[in-house]
Amino acid sequence: MDKPHALLVASPGLGHLIPVLELGNRLSSVLNVHINVLAVTSGSSSQTETEAIRAAAASGACKITELPSVDVNHLVEPDATVATKIFVTMRAMKPAAREAVKSMSRKPTVMIVDFFGTGLMSLADEVGMTGKYVYVPSHAWFLAVMVYLPVLDKVVEGEYVDIKEPMKIPGCKPVGPKELMETMLDRSDRQYRECLQGGEEIPTSDGVLVNTWEELQGNTLAALRQDGKLSRVMKVPVYAIGPIVRTNGSVKKPDSIFQWLDQQPERSVVYVCLGSGGTLSLEQTMELACGLELSGQRFLWVLRRPTSYLGASSGDDDDQVCAGLPDGFLDRTSGVGLVVTQWAPQVEILSHGSIGGFLSHCGWSSVLESLTKGVPIVAWPLYAEQWMNATLLTEEIGVAVRTSELPAKEVIGQEEVAVLVRKIVVEEDEEGRKIRAKAEEVKVSSERAWTQGGSSHSSLFEWAKRCHLVS
Ligand code: UDP
Repeated sequence: MDKPHALLVASPGLGHLIPVLELGNRLSSVLNVHINVLAVTSGSSSQTETEAIRAAAASGACKITELPSVDVNHLVEPDATVATKIFVTMRAMKPAAREAVKSMSRKPTVMIVDFFGTGLMSLADEVGMTGKYVYVPSHAWFLAVMVYLPVLDKVVEGEYVDIKEPMKIPGCKPVGPKELMETMLDRSDRQYRECLQGGEEIPTSDGVLVNTWEELQGNTLAALRQDGKLSRVMKVPVYAIGPIVRTNGSVKKPDSIFQWLDQQPERSVVYVCLGSGGTLSLEQTMELACGLELSGQRFLWVLRRPTSYLGASSGDDDDQVCAGLPDGFLDRTSGVGLVVTQWAPQVEILSHGSIGGFLSHCGWSSVLESLTKGVPIVAWPLYAEQWMNATLLTEEIGVAVRTSELPAKEVIGQEEVAVLVRKIVVEEDEEGRKIRAKAEEVKVSSERAWTQGGSSHSSLFEWAKRCHLVS
C-alpha cells in the first residue's frame, strides 16, 4: 500500500495556480507528506505561469506535472467568458489527468481540486482514492454564496442586479447588487450556469478547505459548519486553513524598485497594483494618475496598458503602457512616485517598511498578502468576486476604504482617489487611524492562526487526520 499522499489539481491562470502551489508547499512543509500537483496551464503557457511552476518545483516541496490545456473552442460559444472556458477546460482535462495519475509511481490517496475543478472530482472515485476535497482559495463568505446559489436560483426571480433588497444568505452577510460576482450579473450567460453547477458540486466532495481563518470570519464559518444555518446546503466539513499566502515571490527583484523604496520614509508609499490581469480604461488611468499626484503622497504604481488605448502598434512596451498617463506626469512626479510596467515582486514590496497602503483590485491573494503584512487597503474592485471582497474588507473587517462607485461601470474621479489615498497613508482622520489599527490587529491574528495549536494549524491537522495523511 502506498504511503498516503495528496494530489492537488490547479486550474489554468496564474491567479489559480499560485494559491494551489502555495497550498502544496504548506501541506508538504507542515504535514511532511508527499504532494503531487497537476497544473493545468493556459494553452499559451504564459511566461509567469511557467516561472511560478519552475520556482515551486525548485523548492522541491511538491512534484509538479504540467498539463497543457486542451482546446475547448468547439465546446463553448464564440463569446464564452474566461470563467466558462476554465470550467469547461477542467472537465475536458479528465482523460489527461487520468493518464497522469496512472503514470505516477506512487498513487495519490487524496485529491484536492480548486474551485473550477469540481468537474474532475469523479476521477478520485474512479482511480480508488479515499477522499476528494475542494480548495477554495477565497474566503468563507464567497464559499457560502457559492453553495447557496442553487437556492437563490430557485427563489429569486429575474436578474440579481435588479433586486431591491439584498439577498439573505443564512447566517452570513446579505449580498446586494454592489456585491454581485461577475458570474451572477447575467443569469442567461453560460458562466452563471457553470458557477451554479460548481455550487452544487462542492457539497458532493468530502470536505472543503478555505483560505481564511477563524478569527477573521468566525460567524460565516459557523454558519457553514454542522448545525450552522447553512449546514443544510453545505453538508460536508469546512476547514479554515488560511492565510495560505506566498512568503516570497517567484520573480527577480529589480534593484531599481528596492533602491527607491529604501529611500522613502517609513509607511509613506501607496503601492498601486491591480493584480495579474487588471487593466483600466484610458480615462480611468488618467484620473488615477491625477489623483495620485493630487494626493501629494509617494506611490509605487504597477501600470498596465490601458484597455482603450489605441496605440499605433500593438504590444506592451514601456512607451505604450505609459502613453496612457497625462502629459508630463512622469516628470512632475519623479522622485515622489515610481511607475513600473513589468511584473512586480508584490510580496516583497508589501513587506517593505516604506509601504503605507495598498490600492488593490482586491483579488483574494493580494488581500491576504496585504493583511498578513498589516498594510491597509484602498479597495478598487474590478472583476470576479472582488466586489464582495471590497465589502468584506470595509464593512466587516474594517481594514479598507473603498471607492464610492462601482469602478467597473463608472470613472472614479481624481479628487476621490486623492481622498482615499490620503485617508489610508496619512491617517489624517479618525477613520484612517482606526483602519490602520485594525490592519495591525489582523496581521497579528493571521500569524496566531498558524502558530502551533492556532486555529488554522489545528484545522489542517484535523483534516489531515480525517483523510489519513497523518495519523
Ligand atoms: N502579482 C505579482 N506581481 C504583479 C501582479 C500580481 O506578484 O505585478 C501577484 C500577486 O502578488 C498575487 C497574484 O499575482 O499573488 C494575483 O492574485 P490575486 O488573487 O490578487 O488577483 P488576480 O490576479 O487573480 O485577479
